[in-house]
Amino acid sequence: MQFRNIPSVERVIAAEPLADAIQAYSREWIVALVRQQLEKARDGVRQGGAAPSVAEVAEATCRAIAEMTRPAPRPVINATGVIIHTNLGRAPLSRAAVEAARLSAEGYSNLEFDLESGRRGSRQAPLQSLLQELTGAEAGLVVNNNAAAVLLGLSALAAGKPVIVSRGEAVEIGGGFRIPDVLAQSGAQLVDVGTTNRTYARDYESAITDRTGAFLKAHASNFRVEGFTAAVAPEELVALGARHNIPVLHDVGSGCLLPTEKYELAHEPTPQESVAAGVGLTFFSGDKLLGGPQAGIVVGTKDLVGRLERHPLARAFRIDKLSLASLVATLLHYRLGEAEGEIPVWQMISMPLPVVKERAETWLAALEQALADAGVEAKVEPGRSAIGGGSLPGETLPSWVLALACPATPGGPEGVIRRLRGGDSPVVARIEGDRVLLDPRTVLPEEEDGLLQGLNEALAGG
Ligand SMILES: *Cc1c(COP(=O)(O)O)cnc(C)c1O
Repeated sequence: MQFRNIPSVERVIAAEPLADAIQAYSREWIVALVRQQLEKARDGVRQGGAAPSVAEVAEATCRAIAEMTRPAPRPVINATGVIIHTNLGRAPLSRAAVEAARLSAEGYSNLEFDLESGRRGSRQAPLQSLLQELTGAEAGLVVNNNAAAVLLGLSALAAGKPVIVSRGEAVEIGGGFRIPDVLAQSGAQLVDVGTTNRTYARDYESAITDRTGAFLKAHASNFRVEGFTAAVAPEELVALGARHNIPVLHDVGSGCLLPTEKYELAHEPTPQESVAAGVGLTFFSGDKLLGGPQAGIVVGTKDLVGRLERHPLARAFRIDKLSLASLVATLLHYRLGEAEGEIPVWQMISMPLPVVKERAETWLAALEQALADAGVEAKVEPGRSAIGGGSLPGETLPSWVLALACPATPGGPEGVIRRLRGGDSPVVARIEGDRVLLDPRTVLPEEEDGLLQGLNEALAGG
């Protein structure tokens, strides 16, 4: 009978690999984990398996300890070529932004304290001049994310009132953010006008009543309507709103402060364009093309921003000190004209093609032996990187990729990318056709050693 061969708790915890764990953690916790492993062993025996040895249970317990004491989320190497990858945490921060978050986390700060007067201050204060300077707006307010910013704006300005939205802009951005639902949640009433592909100023105009709370424009961040289309420009809507005393709210999404045309990408609407057009409130994210931490930024007129500040949801949505510090550091890069050189998403977008190619070639050379041993055919070839993450829908940048044809490796290309994910420094790559593609554009230089180690292991069959 195999049950009798299942080791006792005492024998397992006496086993060598667990001695250190008992030193480091509480004995009770280790005993509980051993019991869990023994329970699994009993299940295995019930299903006709053999009883594990003491060493096997001890080892399984050690693996469980490692798993349960590992910090999360884990750092991941992004070799997908998707620059703003929502599932991988969107924008990596600049060194200065990381350092700012660290400093604000480590000790106390003047978060809400005015050092000059010794009185209470506002956490929004350091952002005011930056947002004014960078967007041209009179005032700004920062909250937890852009979804919160839009909900706050609608709640403060239009609760109980009709809000006019083009049918082509009653969009779903993803992750549960749908303009009609956000409007409903704010207490405003959606009045959708025009058609999916064409909306004119007269459509908005004919829906105006004396109760209309706002016009809302939303950037279709993750899809493109092509062909027979028409939308009303912010300027035109502002002019119409001015005649009827109706504010225009514009959710531009990605918070792109730099001209994307410079990189032969489509034009991404910028907050400063909306402000210049006279839009009352412009909303955008901190962690898309702005390249900073998760945050929702609102800029606009003093009067409208003030109404948001005084709304109770402003407190519920307030930004935390770590994000605030790294957002200020990120915006400083723009003030200093060093965004492309310092902010990772812009470093990636602006990375010259020969540099991308050279990095892929360096990887290829470093992997020569592992590739030969695994019988994998690899080459460096032209590919495309994507902007991703609710910015510049469908837009890609020319790139160079390391392509691996691995039909003979265990599990084929799927096996390779699974083993890449399972390594000590997990690597996320993509498959195109039946090849594994690795794009250097989204791999930070300091991650290259981890990437090469992961590839060596994944190719060896793990
Ligand atoms: C991404 C996006 C949002 C949501 O922003 P979060 O910062 O993720 O909350 C809202 N509106 C638009 C147009 C977006 O692109």
